[in-house]
Amino acid sequence: MSEELLKFVCPSCKHTKLECVETNAIISYEVEVYENECFEYGETIIEDSEIDCFQCLNCGYVLKNKEFNVKINENKEVIKWIKENCSQL
Ligand SMILES: [Zn+2]
Repeated sequence: MSEELLKFVCPSCKHTKLECVETNAIISYEVEVYENECFEYGETIIEDSEIDCFQCLNCGYVLKNKEFNVKINENKEVIKWIKENCSQL
């Protein structure tokens, strides 16, 4: 497989940034508790999340499988969608 970056172009607004939306995430972080209620939080740990969809960062256009009209949430499908819908020239 090539390592070339695929170009995403939003069909709706022509923006070129794609975002991945995850859902059902459990977010946790280390915490240090001080008596004066000044809690210090460590690095965020995200667990148990699942991808909900891929969408345009600008307008929220959601990538869908045209055949079944369902949200695309698999990496392979995203690659396929971009190749089929965005000019790579
Ligand atoms: Zn857009």
